[in-house]
Amino acid sequence: HSVTHLSGNWATFTDSLKNNHAHQLSLITQLTDDIQLEKLHFHIQPQVNLADRSIIGGEVLIRWHNQYLGQVSPAEFIPLAEQTGLIYKLTDMLLEKVFHWASEHPRLLETQRLSVNISALDLLQEDFAKRVIKQIQSHQLSAKKFTIEITETSVFQNNDIVHNNVKLLHRTGFKLAIDDFGVGYSSMQNLVSLETDELKIDQFFVMNLLNDPQSQTLCRNMIDLSKALTIISVAEGIESEEVLQLLLQWQCQVGQGYHLYRPMTPTDYLTLVG
Ligand code: C2E
Ligand code: MG
Ligand code: MG
Ligand code: MG
Repeated sequence: HSVTHLSGNWATFTDSLKNNHAHQLSLITQLTDDIQLEKLHFHIQPQVNLADRSIIGGEVLIRWHNQYLGQVSPAEFIPLAEQTGLIYKLTDMLLEKVFHWASEHPRLLETQRLSVNISALDLLQEDFAKRVIKQIQSHQLSAKKFTIEITETSVFQNNDIVHNNVKLLHRTGFKLAIDDFGVGYSSMQNLVSLETDELKIDQFFVMNLLNDPQSQTLCRNMIDLSKALTIISVAEGIESEEVLQLLLQWQCQVGQGYHLYRPMTPTDYLTLVG
């Protein structure tokens, strides 16, 4: 770091650097411990068929409450877990919890399906699909009831390991969703070559629908693209009835967002759909 131009603010700069560094370190230390102790848990956000508003399933969202740090957002700790390699154990632990919970409520999966987020790094592990399949089979669950959400990154382009994992997961019955479509790296080629089942339109576009014509155009195009490829379109971040009506008009099939349901505890989700 070049700090010469900050000489006037040197004290505050080093303080915040130190604090920041210390904060990161304690995050990593605490995360390592809590993953080991399997202390992370999950919430579920219902996903709704926009045409009749029935709940078709839910997205599993990881939650972390640490005894010293309090509630930490996945937006903060997932990238850190990816940088430190903790992500593999984290994904494994979370899937185990989700499968275990689902197997304890067999009636749930008769009507609902569950969507889980995994990291692109997971798919770069040669044996990822094999391990997940072993896990789901040990709980005697049908993979058909589960969707795997991945956020594309450039590493996906023509990557054999990724493609083999996705192929094997598909063959076992898992569905594949491309998350946060339209932001960062996303390619139409991957939609086709990975045989994607769902395209999730990033909430950035959905939240700006009413006041940004460009987001409207992009949303419509993403929905049309899904239709052309017979992929299910899912809009995330629906925060008002007006936005929902627009999406419905454009024939977006599935939606989630605070206007419909907020993420909730698995117990509340069972009550809601039971
Ligand atoms: P995502 O997969 O795109 O999940 C959607 C995020 O939007 C969630 O944030 C959800 O709580 C939030 N959300 C849903 N509806 C609304 C709405 O109407 N308005 C607003 N403002 N936000 C809404 P969350 O739970 O904080 O998760 C953030 C991100 O962390 C997720 O984005 C996902 O990329 C990642 N993540 C969450 N759980 C896991 C996990 O188990 N594994 C991995 N690898 N990543 C996860
Ligand atoms: Mg997601
Ligand atoms: Mg998303
Ligand atoms: Mg997102």
